[in-house]
Amino acid sequence: MPSASSAPHPLATVIVDAADEIEPDPYQEAAPPGSILQRAIVSLVIFGPLAGFILAIVNLWGSSLHLVDVVTALVFYVISGLGVTVGFHRLLTHRSFVAKRWLRIALGIAGSFAVQGSATSWVALHRRHHVYSDRIGDPHSPNLLGTTRMEMFRGFIHAHAGWLYTAEEANAERWAPDLVADSDIRWVSAYAPLWTVLSFALPALIGFLVTGTGAGTFECFLWGGVVRIFLLHHITWSTNSICHMFGKHPFSSNDLSMNFAPFALLSFGESWHNGHHAFPSSARHGLDRGQLDISARVITIFAALGLASNVRLPDPERVAVRRIDELSIKVDELVGD
Ligand SMILES: [Zn+2]
Ligand SMILES: [Zn+2]
Repeated sequence: MPSASSAPHPLATVIVDAADEIEPDPYQEAAPPGSILQRAIVSLVIFGPLAGFILAIVNLWGSSLHLVDVVTALVFYVISGLGVTVGFHRLLTHRSFVAKRWLRIALGIAGSFAVQGSATSWVALHRRHHVYSDRIGDPHSPNLLGTTRMEMFRGFIHAHAGWLYTAEEANAERWAPDLVADSDIRWVSAYAPLWTVLSFALPALIGFLVTGTGAGTFECFLWGGVVRIFLLHHITWSTNSICHMFGKHPFSSNDLSMNFAPFALLSFGESWHNGHHAFPSSARHGLDRGQLDISARVITIFAALGLASNVRLPDPERVAVRRIDELSIKVDELVGD
């Protein structure tokens, strides 16, 4: 690979508010299949939680679900989910706000509990996604394989989890030079395997401390670890698949990002994905009245507590300018006919 691929990309840390026309990155176009080891790990990450989820559902009929399992699953879903949405995404990728040092580290660790790779690799890939959104160079666009029903289906599978099987890595020096230079995030990223183990071990430990039994320990591991990761993975991956295929596109954003309301709650506001692509550095993705965005609320609370500052929100006039006038589009279509 040419050495220039390691040079910081000019847009890596200046996350543009509008996806301007950008030439495809010649160093990132090809996505060869991953190594056998990588594919084995990806299979474990995708199908392990699926198997655990099926086991948990089957066990439900044996009434092996207790309050401690539900509470543990909920608590770890919120911690790891907000770690990704508030920490990895809005803080580290887009710099939507500035956090106190300890909070920045805590959010980095919490995001690592989501078992989606290290903070630095997550950020690097996601910045690439924004720069090449739905064009060649996008690591996980569902819209580049064709427009027939079968091609769209293949695109969906690729965007959801299939792309994980390719060696589609984003070079950290190129896409996240700020985080490579950040010693706090560097060690948080270096210990990603440890956070992954703790993400399963801590729920199991809670189960043991509360029940004192092997069965109780396993149930908490299953629900608070495996089932929780299964749900969180698919909600996160849906942002790449569903939210680039289905929903509403109220803002001009030079890609096919969509606002998909049904996942607003479970995704902590990330499914207002068109709002996000139109205004990437905004701390709030649900830009319209009534659009539930729990991550934005959490950032607001951090700011009220003095833990966050410089919270970035788009100027309402810019939001209005970017809004697509659906009526005029319909008129244009009629005139076109
Ligand atoms: Zn997107
Ligand atoms: Zn983003």
